[in-house]
Formats: sequence, C-alpha cells, structure tokens
Amino acid sequence: GAKALGKNSFHYYTKSMRDKALKRMTLLKDLRYAIGHQQLFVEYQPIVDLATSKITKAEALVRWQHPKDGLIRPDEFIPISEESGLIVDISNWVFRQVCADVVHWRKQYSADLQISINTSPVHYADQDSCITNWIDYMESHQVPAEAILLEITEGLLMSGDDSVSNKLFHFKKNGVGIALDDFGTGYSSISYLKKYPTDYLKIDKGFVQSVTEVTNDKVLCEAIIVMAQKLGINVVAEGIETKGQYDMLKNMGCQFGQGYLFSKPLGKQAFNALLSQQ
Ligand code: C2E
Ligand code: MG
Ligand code: MG
Ligand code: MG
Repeated sequence: GAKALGKNSFHYYTKSMRDKALKRMTLLKDLRYAIGHQQLFVEYQPIVDLATSKITKAEALVRWQHPKDGLIRPDEFIPISEESGLIVDISNWVFRQVCADVVHWRKQYSADLQISINTSPVHYADQDSCITNWIDYMESHQVPAEAILLEITEGLLMSGDDSVSNKLFHFKKNGVGIALDDFGTGYSSISYLKKYPTDYLKIDKGFVQSVTEVTNDKVLCEAIIVMAQKLGINVVAEGIETKGQYDMLKNMGCQFGQGYLFSKPLGKQAFNALLSQQ
C-alpha cells in the first residue's frame, strides 16, 4: 500500500485523492449550471427496421457541451448526476426536448415514429418529482403515448420494489412502451421479461459485436431472439457496425437494429434531414 512506499508517496496519494474529489465537485457545480444554460443537448440515433431498412425509431442520447472542457459524454456525467440527484432534472429536460421534437417529426415526416429515452433508477425512487408526472405532461402537450419508449435497465427491476413495478404498469396502461436496455450485461433474467411489461428488449452491443464469431454469444443471441418472439417482445440489436452482423441478426429474426453501420447519433438538424429524405 501507499504507507509501505514511505511518507512522501502517502502524501501524494492523499493529494491525488483530494484532486479527484475537487474535480468531481467542480464537475457537479458546472453540471448544475449547465442544465439551465443551454449546455446540454440531445442527439438522436436512428433505429432501423431490419426488414425494410426504414428508420422507425430513434434513441435520445444526452450530451454536454462544456464551455471550457468541450464535449462531455454521458458516461462521464450520468453517474455523478445519479449520485447527486441531478439526474432527475436532466431526465425531465431531455424528456421535454424529445416530446417537442417527436410531435414535430410525426406531423412532418413519419406518423408512427417513436423516440426512446434512457431512464435512471433514481427517477423511479423519487416520490415528488415522480416519473409518472410524464404521463400528465404528455396529455397536456398532445404527445401521443405511443410516441415515447422508456428504456430501463435490469438494475431497476432487481430491487423487486412494488412501487417500481406500479410505475411501469402505469406507463403501460397509458400506452407508453418499455424497453429493457443492455440485455445480456446483467443477470439477463427471463423472469423479468414475464413479470414486467416489457415491449422491447435491446440486446447489448457486447453480444452483437461477437455474433459473427464462433462463440457462445452467437447461440445466446439467437436464443434470446427466439425466446423474446415467443413472449411477444420485439428485439432491437444495439451496436451493429458491420454488414455481417446485420445479415446474421436479420436471419436470426431480429426485427430492429441500431449502430454505426446505419448511423452515429445525430444532432437534431441532421436527424431531421435524414427523416426528410426517406
Ligand atoms: P445506452 O443507452 O446503451 O446507449 C447506447 C450507447 O452506445 C450510446 O453511447 C451510443 O452512442 C453507443 N453506440 C451506438 N451505436 C454504436 C456502435 O455501433 N458501436 C459502438 N461502439 N457504440 C455505439 P453514449 O451516447 O455515449 O451513451 C452512453 C450511455 O449513457 C447510454 O448507454 C446510457 O446508458 C447513458 N445515457 C445517455 N443518454 C442518457 C440520458 O438522457 N439519460 C440517462 N439516464 N442515461 C443516458
Ligand atoms: Mg439506451
Ligand atoms: Mg444500451
Ligand atoms: Mg448502456
């Protein structure tokens, strides 16, 4: 350990820890400011119907344009926003952006376009700024329930919490679809799929990217797709980067795909342009 290396290294060790804590506090302060000052923005990554190659959905992904540090990716600020509770404000902000955009795009280009939004377990635990307020917001802003899909992760379901399941069924009852994100990275429990109102299952890119190799992943991928179909759940393959992966998944009966092969996440204008072309 640090102690064994002598007094000086122990000193540096604590200094680096202090630096880290300081950096985190600064980031949090900046993030709190960013939310109200147009530094966050949403990118949309197309989700394609593999049979027709048509864009039928997109996933909303939040980004942070920091005035000094440049573009910061969600993996760098979502975790601290979850620890601090700021995620609730971020999610509400993303949700409202998406509502405005999807209503416009459905009118203009594609009447059944759906946008999926990543949701954090923190948002379901919160009593006051409860995520079910989103239903009221959609009603008062004429956003059709079918226009929105909520992405959740297995971590949320693992708690077995009744209030979580009540909220999910409340969405379901009102017509908002639920997609289980990153399937294959957690427990991949089949029981969740039966117990909760899952409309879509998103196979994690880790699986998808080894689907063309002779590995267990290939077998598992196919099994997941077949099982989901039997349960009446649609499958989205995440992180498709090659034509080989695309063909393989399509042949396995996977309905939807998302990944760099089709498109990277796009700014609002660029996604708009793509929709207007098809
Ligand atoms: P995710 O929900 O699993 O989103 C998919 C991630 O995979 C995105 O990373 C996307 O850019 C990336 N991706 C898409 N296609 C490919 C591909 O072909 N190859 C590779 N290598 N990557 C691909 P991104 O945008 O950096 O987001 C990372 C994670 O941050 C998301 O993972 C999600 O968990 C979280 N996140 C993003 N936006 C939000 C948000 O608004 N709210 C919450 N709570 N979480 C968010
Ligand atoms: Mg997602
Ligand atoms: Mg995912
Ligand atoms: Mg993820």
